[in-house]
Order: sequence, then C-alpha cells, then structure tokens
Amino acid sequence: MSYPVLRVHLDVMESNINKIVSKCSEHGISVWAVTKGLSAPLELARRLSGTRISALADSRIKNIRRMKEDGIKAPFALIRIPMRSEIEDVIGLADYSLVSDMGTLELMSKVCESKKKEHSAMLMTDMGDLREGFWSDEAETVAEGLKKLSPALKICGIGVNYGCASGVLPSKESMQRFLSFGEKIESVIGRKLDIYSGGATTRSLIALDDGIFPARINNLRIGEGYLLGSDKSSGVIIPWLRQDTMELEAELVEVRRKPTKPIGEVGRDAFGNVPYFEDRGERLRGILAIGRQDVNIGGLTPLDEGVKIITASSDHLLVDIEDCPVAHKVGEILRFRPDYPGMLSSSTSPYVAKIYEG
Ligand SMILES: *Cc1c(COP(=O)(O)O)cnc(C)c1O
Repeated sequence: MSYPVLRVHLDVMESNINKIVSKCSEHGISVWAVTKGLSAPLELARRLSGTRISALADSRIKNIRRMKEDGIKAPFALIRIPMRSEIEDVIGLADYSLVSDMGTLELMSKVCESKKKEHSAMLMTDMGDLREGFWSDEAETVAEGLKKLSPALKICGIGVNYGCASGVLPSKESMQRFLSFGEKIESVIGRKLDIYSGGATTRSLIALDDGIFPARINNLRIGEGYLLGSDKSSGVIIPWLRQDTMELEAELVEVRRKPTKPIGEVGRDAFGNVPYFEDRGERLRGILAIGRQDVNIGGLTPLDEGVKIITASSDHLLVDIEDCPVAHKVGEILRFRPDYPGMLSSSTSPYVAKIYEG
C-alpha cells in the first residue's frame, strides 16, 4: 500500500444521494448528481448511474468523455459554461449544457445542425452571485436571439447558481426574479420551459422544507451534499445526511519531542508567510508524509483523538500528538476528514492513491 490514500466510501455516498433524491422528489425536484468535487471517478459514476438521479453532471468535458467511454448509461450534463474551442465535443458527448453567451449558443446551434445531433442548453442567469449568467434585463433580447437557433438545439430551461463566486445565498426574493426571467423567455418564445434549476447544494438542501423554492423550481444540481454531507456556504452539516464519506490517510515518518517555539531568527516560511508559534514548552510532534503538493491542508480535520495540525510545507504535515491517548509511532497511519477544497485537491493529486470501498 502506498500512502497517502484517499479512502472513499461509495455506499455512504449512495445512501446520501438516495436520501437527497427522495426528499427532493417530495418537492417535485429532480436531482443532477455533480461529480466534479471528486474528479468524477468511474467507480462513483457507475454507482450513481444506478440510482434515481436524472443526470450525471460534471464541469469538464474530459470527465464526461471518460464516463461515456466506460459505458456508463445516464444523461450527461456539462455544468461549466462551455469554451467555444470545445463545442464540437460538447455537442458530441453531453446531453445538456449550461450556457450564458448568445454567440456560444449560435455556434452550438450550427454544430448541432452539422452533426445532425440534438442537444439541450440551459440558460444560466445571474441572480447576484456574479459568476456566470445572463443579467435579468437581458431576458427579452436573449429570447429574441433564441428564435434564430436551430430546433436541434433545444432550450430546455433556465438555471441559477448561488454561493460560488460571492457567497450569495438563495432567497424567496431572488427566486422570484429567477422565475420572472423564465416567464419572460417563455412569453417571447411562445412555449413553457421544462427545467427551472434552482441551484447547487448551497442553502437548498437545508432550506428545502422551509419552502424556499417556488413550485416551478423542479431541478437541483447537487455535489457537496452527497459527497460530504455538508453545506459549506452555510457552514453546517446536513443533519439527515452522512459525513463519513471519505478519509485521507497519511503515514508518520518522524515522531519526536521538540520545542514549540522555533530556535533562531524567524524569516518567511516556504510560502512567504512569517509564522508565529506560541511557546508551549516541549511537546511530542509527528511528521506525516503529505503536504501542500498533495492537498489543501487548511481543509483537513484530524480523526484520531488528540491530533492537532501545526503547519505544513510542500511535502510535510506537522502534527502535535502530545495529547493523544495512544503513543503514535513512525510507520503508523493517521486519518483526516477533508472539506470541499481538501477533497478537490486530494482527488486531483497524482500523489494521492484512491481507494473506493463499499
Ligand atoms: C459545482 C457546481 C454545482 C454543484 O455544486 P455543489 O456545491 O457541489 O453542490 C452545481 N452547478 C454548477 C453550475 C456548478 O458549477
């Protein structure tokens, strides 16, 4: 076994997605399972494709290609607004995409025609988080532009994203603005839109029962909720989901008593910061063979009792183990629970082995 290891519990994620799908369906909401947080491993995608989700969604067309080439059967959605340079692949591989640019839609329409392929585009709207999306007052001009597109490029609905670029949360007020954007489009194109996609995990799962979503909201795109059982934008765990979905394991390569206060003049550390360490006398500390090159260290919570993270360099994670009830030794494995950036970074790192269980 080569460490560090990211150990992923597929059965726990599956139980989370099943709970999310059931709860959302009580509210007339379908669920797209977003795989980007864990870099879309095939083991997970295969498992999800057997659940009642209505699409597998990822931000990278490369991941969608990999999943399709593996033979996974599901509708696929590209959830990062596409680059014009990848439109051929997007039309060729994905069933849905999220789009916020009229020129891109026109290009997609041409490619649908030339490939004789149907594709569904969801219009992204910006309700204040200031990432992707058409602005509210563009609804009429956008709708007029849609009339010129090929019928092979179906406009399936509208979507909104919260809590990503600016941390803006969904509210009843912004939901109303979102609905009125859709209704304006509908009145110009003369038909109803199928999908009103009300956001990601952000606030939506914890507020589902509080009636935050108007009846027309019928889709959510969920990643963090089933991957970690948490909602980082609200800083909470989702109490009806499980959080023990994965652990990051690393090996101790040194255990020694050392002073807590560095000896000598203190300049900048490896990352340009001037560190400050309180003098707490001599304490037992360990070095784990994992570092910032492998994972976003700030996102790790130790799972072994008494372990505290001191600091990390590119390849070393220093932990205080003085208060541990057991005497940890060199060669032992310590475990950590990653948050979203911790999961993202360790899942993309080629230095971290991945094990899928359950
Ligand atoms: C990442 C992303 C999601 C999923 O976000 P989570 O917070 O992981 O649920 C949904 N929609 C879009 C457009 C995204 O970029």
